[in-house]
Amino acid sequence: MSDSETPILRLVEEVPHALNHSDAFEAALAGRRPAVFLDYDGTLTPIVQRPELAILSDRGRQVVSELATRLPTAVVSGRDRPDVERLVALDELTYVGSHGFDIVVPGGRQVDNPIAGDFTPLLDEVEAKLVEGLGPIPGAQVERKKFSIAAHYRNVADADYARFREVLDGVVNDHDGIKEKTGKKVFELQPKLDWDKGKAVLWLLEALEINHNDGVPIDDIVPMFFGDDVTDEDAFGALQGQGLSVIVSDREDEGTGRRTAASFRVYDTEELLTLLERLKP
Ligand SMILES: [Mg+2]
Repeated sequence: MSDSETPILRLVEEVPHALNHSDAFEAALAGRRPAVFLDYDGTLTPIVQRPELAILSDRGRQVVSELATRLPTAVVSGRDRPDVERLVALDELTYVGSHGFDIVVPGGRQVDNPIAGDFTPLLDEVEAKLVEGLGPIPGAQVERKKFSIAAHYRNVADADYARFREVLDGVVNDHDGIKEKTGKKVFELQPKLDWDKGKAVLWLLEALEINHNDGVPIDDIVPMFFGDDVTDEDAFGALQGQGLSVIVSDREDEGTGRRTAASFRVYDTEELLTLLERLKP
């Protein structure tokens, strides 16, 4: 999909379940070799109350480790790259942190992002303002990342939410260079740049020579993105027409009007792992 195209969105309940409609899933793969891009939180691990509790299960580590021996495999997360690397703890993967800003390939080589810069002073200032404003609100959690700052409200009482939101609005309005992204019970404040998980995935296909060999396109590769959250929609949309995507979306999302650009769906992490086990080279 090019920048000018808008992704096609469907209600989550209209998206075919990848395991229950395995014929359709296999047909979409059409015998091509998957290049696998995986979100971490809510995808490889179930959603938890605090980010530090999102631990990859033994089964999860085994499935991903085995997958990486067969297929190009990358974990693409909103977390800082060293953080997600430590949680997954497998050497044979590509790790992409901070929604695509920070990239390391197997063997530990860092790949320069085409538009990276030094946003440390700006983020330092925003972090200080958030800590000052949100500090007095019980349950509010400010998480500093290398390329963004997360403001968590999962543990904030409903009665305090308006105050939480007001602090956030104030900080965003005061800083022109900052944009806000919405996640599950979290807002991410990031430098305003034309970069997201979708652009990261398309760029990685080129940079890691996944979709070409000495400049010759490899047409039996199908890039696949697996994710669960709003920021993953950028990747789902980017792959429409040239890849496949799978959203982790449970039955509670049905009837809420939630729309997605994903091509297939599973209900939870365990189903996702089963689907990954079935991917063939
Ligand atoms: Mg996620």
